[in-house]
Amino acid sequence: MISAIRKAMVFVSLALVAGACKKDSSVGPITGSVDDAAFNLYEQHFLDAFWKLNPGWATSVGYHKYDSILLIPNKQNREKLLNFTKVQLDSLGRYNPGTFLESNKMDYAILQNQMDYMQWQIEQLKAYEWDPSSYNVIGTFAYILNEHYEPLAKRLTSFYERMSFIPAYYKEAEKQLKDPVKELTDLAIEQHLGGLSVFESDFADSLKKTNIPDATKKLMLDRAKTSADVIRGFAEFLKSMKNDHPRSFRLGKDLYESKFKYEIQASETAQQVYNAAVDRKKYIHHEMAKLSVKLWPKYFGNKPMPADTLAIIGQMIDTLSAKHVAPGDFQEAITKELPKLTAFVTEKNLVTLDPTKPLVVRKEPGYMAGVAGASMSSPGPYDVSQNSYFNVGSLAGWSPERAESYLREYNQYILQILCIHEAIPGHYVQLVYSNKAPSMIKSIFSNSAMVEGWAVYSEQMMLDAGFGDNAPEMWLMWYKWNLRSVCNFILDYGVHCLNMPKQSAITMLTHEAFQQQAEAENKWTRVSVTSVQLDSYYTGYKEIMDLRDEWKTKMADKYNLKDFNEKFLSYGSAPVKLIRDAMLEKDKAAGSPGKN
Ligand code: ZN
Ligand code: ZN
Repeated sequence: MISAIRKAMVFVSLALVAGACKKDSSVGPITGSVDDAAFNLYEQHFLDAFWKLNPGWATSVGYHKYDSILLIPNKQNREKLLNFTKVQLDSLGRYNPGTFLESNKMDYAILQNQMDYMQWQIEQLKAYEWDPSSYNVIGTFAYILNEHYEPLAKRLTSFYERMSFIPAYYKEAEKQLKDPVKELTDLAIEQHLGGLSVFESDFADSLKKTNIPDATKKLMLDRAKTSADVIRGFAEFLKSMKNDHPRSFRLGKDLYESKFKYEIQASETAQQVYNAAVDRKKYIHHEMAKLSVKLWPKYFGNKPMPADTLAIIGQMIDTLSAKHVAPGDFQEAITKELPKLTAFVTEKNLVTLDPTKPLVVRKEPGYMAGVAGASMSSPGPYDVSQNSYFNVGSLAGWSPERAESYLREYNQYILQILCIHEAIPGHYVQLVYSNKAPSMIKSIFSNSAMVEGWAVYSEQMMLDAGFGDNAPEMWLMWYKWNLRSVCNFILDYGVHCLNMPKQSAITMLTHEAFQQQAEAENKWTRVSVTSVQLDSYYTGYKEIMDLRDEWKTKMADKYNLKDFNEKFLSYGSAPVKLIRDAMLEKDKAAGSPGKN
């Protein structure tokens, strides 16, 4: 949930270890039908063709056949992609998913959605016209340089070959842009200039470590210089581009609802979830007020309470935030938390933890540095079995003010909730279960609302089970944390669909969600260059809570929390609505499962 490491969180959901590739052979005649076997074969062919058209994406998930390719972002290549989606939808139409295993039914729905989404992106969203940051190719080059999936010399050769496309790539990018969004233009300039070091120094540093002949090295370095020049040139082009009628950074209601439908794949519309979020905010404020009034005498004695309820809550949170570790103890505090969480989950019988898959805690690697806090790193779906790492950042070198502000945010209470969210029983546990339900489709197109929703849900589940001894302080802080997910949604929808002005947004975040000014400003920056991303936390949380209620009703006196958790997790990182269909056996009644 630390916004700056969200990118890493996306990769968390892509993680899958060894078992994944065994899928075809493991779906045998005992459980799957002939149709299932045919469909699994189709999935393999689908992916091979898909990666060819999406080489950068392929690299990022550990499929390295096309590392040396960079497709030119022209109309012709978009037509190819569009044609691909039509062919695939046609192929999918020949199956009858009603006869499939549950897992294949989900894959089927996920693939249909993905093909529809890609068509919509090309034909309706058209970000290639207005989002200059969509042309940033540097991330994949950095990935090839930093991830040790192949010998260095081989990776550097791919890097070298991929660079040959850079001049044509950016020439085309400049042609495609039309009235780009100002905020995205600024972001693109910053990202392109910020990433130059990959070509100007990192590549050269890596070359020195190989035995590649000097003459070849020289060619490679020359091309890196050309690449850096082209990228700098693109940034210059953006800076000087005439743009009298820039498109608004606000997506608008129609595009937003569609993007929400394809990306979040919820059973409700964005507007419906927005309405629920507004209600949830009121409910949380009410609960926080009760807790704050109760805690007041303990911390403030006879001091009179402010008349404004939000002010009472604000002062309580401010006071409790002072309870935090020293900057130098931050990593150790997180490391110490994990065995406690494991013990609690086991003692309360919340979900079975796999002792053969220990979580490795490590200091944040250099290339992630600068982002303190905690995040998960896991290998991509195609990578062979690797550890998952819980990266813990260091606050070394931070100014005392910055460290203090950060530590107040990640105070003693929130630190524990953070470990629940990221690790146990949050993201890490979800991953272990996901890996036991191997499906390349669910890993590659993993659903962010399911993944983030589970992490948010697991925080409440732990507190409900008595984690933190039911202390009102702990609950108050959790509500603050939960309010962040809720306000993320209200902010995203408000800004993109309801024209929410910056000042109202900042006021909501600081006054009603009790965030620091700097945090609120950062959030504003994020919402002005992304859309829908911030919806996944609350939407997923809400859908899981709703599903659990339905499941309780269905199971009646046979209901058991652990069974619910394990059953829910057993389907892998699929959209909650598809898991819901499977758990409540909706399709059997309807007789037509191919929903998307
Ligand atoms: Zn998360
Ligand atoms: Zn302090």
